[in-house]
Amino acid sequence: MAQTEPAEEDLSHGMPRLGLGTWQNTDPEQCAESVRTALEAGYRHIDTAQAYDNEEYVGDGIAAADVDRDDVFLATKIWTTNLAHDDVLETAKASLDRLGVDAVDLLYVHWPAGEYDPEGTLAAFDQLYDEGLIRNVGVSNFTPELLDEARGILDAPIVANQVECHPLLQQDELLDYGREHDINLVAYSPLARGAVFDVPEIQEIAEKHDASPAQVSLAWLLQRDGVAAIPKATGEAHIRDNWGALELELDDEDVATIDALGEGRREVDPDFGPWN
Ligand code: NAP
Repeated sequence: MAQTEPAEEDLSHGMPRLGLGTWQNTDPEQCAESVRTALEAGYRHIDTAQAYDNEEYVGDGIAAADVDRDDVFLATKIWTTNLAHDDVLETAKASLDRLGVDAVDLLYVHWPAGEYDPEGTLAAFDQLYDEGLIRNVGVSNFTPELLDEARGILDAPIVANQVECHPLLQQDELLDYGREHDINLVAYSPLARGAVFDVPEIQEIAEKHDASPAQVSLAWLLQRDGVAAIPKATGEAHIRDNWGALELELDDEDVATIDALGEGRREVDPDFGPWN
């Protein structure tokens, strides 16, 4: 497939399966260039957050790309200090201003921590949804128990739970929960922040398919029903390498080998989270 074609099948709720992560991409020009490059390579899902301090540069990249804004699935997140009801309303609008858009496609609760107060926080998310400023509601770093609670409060559906997920942390329980309730699992740190590159089994599968270890890790995620992945890549080589994962078909033996690698290894904030 030409690398300029968008991904063929989106997940439910119109979410493209492969997106671009932007955490720690904070240089104004570099960040805008990464986003523009990704969009022109075919990506249609961009992930940012208030806490990444780059919403403005992400917006610049979208504006600079030769792609219609309406074709881009743009997600941002409300940071923990802004989760009180009125702060959600106020800072979501500030995020839209920084991004230079009238609405985002998905707004997440970034972590169930800090000022997160289920009733107040989620009422504000419902209000933004009703006003059309956010097209979908998502949560991040939620456990099944927290998802149950949030679903009981929200009127709007939860379309995604964004959690760390990769061959070394497979999140089977959350995946089953998501499939039952039509909640996509958006895999963050899908390359385990580089740790998957050192796994011999992944290296061997990569060699067998003449692919990169990054592509193997991403292809394993993308072949799972209901999973999107948002690898962070800065320069064109990594951006295009990751896009190539959509073309890689792992066979049953590869999948079984990777399925056996899950060891519950967490790269992001292992000591801070509702799972502790
Ligand atoms: P990641 O995507 O697992 O790994 C990113 C690292 O891999 C970067 O150092 C990147 O380098 C490198 N890389 C990317 N593609 C590569 C390739 N093809 N070959 C070799 N190296 C490659 O880690 P992440 O940034 O933690 O996670 C991805 C995104 O998930 C974040 O950017 C963010 O959008 C989101 N996230 C969300 C949360 C949350 O709480 N919701 C937490 C963490 C992350 P270069 O940058 O040099 O290309």
